Amino acid sequence: MKKLFGIIKSQLNSDRELEEKIFASILNLGIIVVGISAIVTFLERISAFATVAILLAELMFVLTMVIYYKFHNTILARRMLCYLINCFLIPVIFFTCGGIDSGMPIYMLAGLFMIVPVLDGRDRIVCFSCSLIVDIAVIILSYFMMEGAPEGMQLPGNILVKLTLGARVTDVAVSLALMSIFVCLTFGLVLRAYRTERKGREDLLRKLDMLSKKDDLTGLYNRRELFWHLETMKTFFGKRYFIAMFDIDHFKMINDTFGHLFGDVALKEIAKKMSAFCDRQEDEIAARFGGEEFVIFFKAMDDREAFRKIDKLRREIGEMQWEEHPGLSITISVGVAICVHGKPLEETLNEADKQLYAAKGSGRNKVCMEKRAQ
Ligand code: GH3
Ligand code: MG
Ligand code: MG
Repeated sequence: MKKLFGIIKSQLNSDRELEEKIFASILNLGIIVVGISAIVTFLERISAFATVAILLAELMFVLTMVIYYKFHNTILARRMLCYLINCFLIPVIFFTCGGIDSGMPIYMLAGLFMIVPVLDGRDRIVCFSCSLIVDIAVIILSYFMMEGAPEGMQLPGNILVKLTLGARVTDVAVSLALMSIFVCLTFGLVLRAYRTERKGREDLLRKLDMLSKKDDLTGLYNRRELFWHLETMKTFFGKRYFIAMFDIDHFKMINDTFGHLFGDVALKEIAKKMSAFCDRQEDEIAARFGGEEFVIFFKAMDDREAFRKIDKLRREIGEMQWEEHPGLSITISVGVAICVHGKPLEETLNEADKQLYAAKGSGRNKVCMEKRAQ
């Protein structure tokens, strides 16, 4: 039993489509309910006809399961389940369990309702129409099997089992309880499956959102995200923020000498250093600006501290050890611009670029920083 619940649970938590989960739930629940009914019918010895019919129904449920799970023929299994319940199981139980006097109309309603989530489009309309016609035909037919039908119109060989008043009341109460549990449980499962699916979608969106913000190779923020971040931070530019633009020195030569793959490794490792430099609580970010160019948006108490922090980072990058090429030193040149409230972003980035150019021009492996206007 525990294993069975385990299988059902794993089906509901799987990443299959919602419609598949609903169908699987109805099939799983149906086979249990019909199985129990078959045992009860047999023990109560209602009638041999009822016992054979319900056993046959259970067999058809098993067959549907085999078609669904073993042969993966979903559409055939879906049709089988709907027609089996509405056009076979319900009419049989109707005649063998008290007809219109019993709780059968409640079962008929539940059977028709079940078609909606299981079948789709034309299939749904056809099955619903057939099932409704069968239900109404069964009800009308039962009229001619009951006492009180016009003389001479009563059908011979009546198979309709009649219930006593007590059995009638019990049957309606039990039918209502059973079917309301079935309907509520199915809808509970549907909602749960929907929630799992929605969560999966939300996780995926979050992942996509992350991917759209980050650079593939280095994992740093990309250029677009950098501009977006700088735009949102514009109002805080008075609070001692700085923009540092980095460019790796002679990177083309590094690529040409040690290969592009090593070049990629170097980019990743340098990016890690830059990422570790940033404090996200302070809204600092590091981004890959272009091929081997990076930008760091950071905070410092004053210009001197800003210079000191970036120069320390430059030194640390220059001192990095490269396992594949011991003794190699990869250096960077940096240009730092001061963020000033009200100054256009482009101007600040241009200033950082200008300072970077100056650092390259004066021998590389250097930090050049903008002088604050007095
Ligand atoms: P400088 O000191 O003046 O900056 O010289 P440089 O060689 O670094 O400058 P240049 O702009 O000429 O070369 C940049 C090189 O960066 C060229 C390009 O092949 C390399 N590059 C750009 N993106 C990548 C990448 O994703 N991976 C690797 N391995 N190399 C890259
Ligand atoms: Mg460059
Ligand atoms: Mg370069």
